[in-house]
Amino acid sequence: MAGEFDLIRDYFQGATVPRGDVALGIGDDCALLNVPPGRQLAVSMDTLVCGRHFLPDVDPASLGHKALAVNLSDLAAMGAEPAWVTLGLTLPGADAHWQAWLGAFVGGFAGLAAQHGVQLVGGDTTRGELSITVQVHGFVRPGQALRRDGAHEGDLVYVSGQLGDAGLALLAQQGLYVGLGSLERLQVRLDRPQPRVALGRSLVGLASAAIDVSDGAAADLGHICSASGCGAQVYLERLPMSDTVADYVRETGDWSVPLSSGDDYELVFTVPEGRQGELETAAAAWDVPLTWIGLMRKGAGVEVQLPDGLTTDTVSGGYDHFNN
Ligand code: ADP
Ligand code: MG
Repeated sequence: MAGEFDLIRDYFQGATVPRGDVALGIGDDCALLNVPPGRQLAVSMDTLVCGRHFLPDVDPASLGHKALAVNLSDLAAMGAEPAWVTLGLTLPGADAHWQAWLGAFVGGFAGLAAQHGVQLVGGDTTRGELSITVQVHGFVRPGQALRRDGAHEGDLVYVSGQLGDAGLALLAQQGLYVGLGSLERLQVRLDRPQPRVALGRSLVGLASAAIDVSDGAAADLGHICSASGCGAQVYLERLPMSDTVADYVRETGDWSVPLSSGDDYELVFTVPEGRQGELETAAAAWDVPLTWIGLMRKGAGVEVQLPDGLTTDTVSGGYDHFNN
């Protein structure tokens, strides 16, 4: 049975590529980190609890990827440049089974860290029910972060990528959707989300507000509305969907999958009307498609316009841990 210090040495030290701005990494009581001059630190934390955010038999490499991805997605939503990460791990054991699990988990985590040049600089390892807490640290220029409270009436609402793949994968897991052939692609979208870090950074200076889609596009746009003191109108038929999700919606009429299911980790953002041309010109060179889905308007909350022209209040949704 390995001890805490063996685990730290064998699995965490040297797990990620070293950065020049880390004066002291894993091994002492604290890490020592140099924030570049003229930058603010953007900090965010997310916890994944076994049985609530993932099933006990989930592939540990995917879980390592996702634990970091959901955090990088928050940096993306602020337009921040990722730099450092800390990891709080509670593990049920340190026997051969859990060491193999940890090896795979750190592999998935480090793979995504390498793609974004992020260094693991510290953490804490304890014994108990499996739970994972990750904290990321990134850089933004003062006053330049993409906040939730910057949208104005008349701004255009955009979303990156496609909505609903992860939600449909969850339905499939629960046996509520029997797909025809494409389940594997949906599962990858759920298990290995790609945080839109480059997009977020490109939106700095262009977007008036931004948020990542973790609770569902409507609910997350609702957060921009309440922070910005305005409402939004979303055109359902404009929601970008994969063929699989579009087929599902056509067959079932269930728009809640693209509109209200979480875990897509795309970005929803607003752009002042006068800057639409600039955005769309710049976006032509970006590697993720953007879709215009609605408008910010007077009032409060998200109003949804159905394809037949009728409007309805938000198919209220999104995941709230204390209300569901
Ligand atoms: P202390 O007892 O002083 O809090 P620890 O024994 O918890 O120190 O940790 C020793 C070193 O290992 C510290 O640098 C800590 O940040 C690092 N560490 C512990 N657990 C992890 C982990 N899960 N991931 C990354 N670093 C870790
Ligand atoms: Mg400690």
